[in-house]
Amino acid sequence: MWIGIISLFPEMFKSITDYGIISKGIKKKLLKLKFWNPRDYTKNKYHNVDCNIYGGGSGVLLKAEPLIKSINAAQYKANGYAKLIYLSPQGKRINKSYIKNLLIYKKLILVCGRYKGIDERVINSYIEEEISIGDYILSGGELPAMVLIDVLARLIPGVLNKKSSNDTDSFFNNGLLDCPNYTRPKILKNMEKVPDILLSGNHKKIKEWRLQQSLGRTWLKRPDLFKKKKLTKEEKILFDQFKNNYFKKNFFKK
Ligand code: SAM
Repeated sequence: MWIGIISLFPEMFKSITDYGIISKGIKKKLLKLKFWNPRDYTKNKYHNVDCNIYGGGSGVLLKAEPLIKSINAAQYKANGYAKLIYLSPQGKRINKSYIKNLLIYKKLILVCGRYKGIDERVINSYIEEEISIGDYILSGGELPAMVLIDVLARLIPGVLNKKSSNDTDSFFNNGLLDCPNYTRPKILKNMEKVPDILLSGNHKKIKEWRLQQSLGRTWLKRPDLFKKKKLTKEEKILFDQFKNNYFKKNFFKK
């Protein structure tokens, strides 16, 4: 996947390009990130990139011309169609299925706003889609772009190795949350014991236990997700057992 990024602060992206999964994906040539800074498309590097808003009011806006020139340069370099996205609190909220659909596009250009945002004419004439990472306001589009890139990168085949594969992670686990996980040491001070079943070596039983825990956790922590889930016969039996045990354990607590 090729991702062009238009940002006043490309250095911020070092936190994903230089560490972890994304840096590995870049080294494996499965992911390529390229940057364009609107400041490089102004007559005076430090004074022409933003301006006051017509009509008055506080804050400044990213000007249209440097953004349009950056977009044109990125599109030229993309050498083929690249979907043009503006990270914006007013956009569609990203979720798992939306991200999966984005993977169809092999090339994306992400526009990161700053200050009060970007001139509306750029949105109306150039941007194909606005994407939000949630109903709150960040100071710039860089963090949302990094969130988007990280989530996308995890889904590009080959970026994750088997050790960190995501098919048992929450949401990717058939719409359920991940089960509880433990690692060495077996005994840790006076904390709860690692469940015996996980130490039993019985893979069928372990799989069943994990599914049961995922069902139970989703029911407890994310009832909204659980409501959407259609249970198979096996899942229903496992869930009923979980629920009964849960009520038995918690009956006297109240
Ligand atoms: N005045 C804008 C509004 O209310 O829609 C918000 C501007 S915000 C301070 C500056 C930039 O941060 C935006 O242009 C956008 O690129 C980015 N941004 C802020 N919150 C975001 C969110 N929740 N999702 C995606 N991008 C966001």
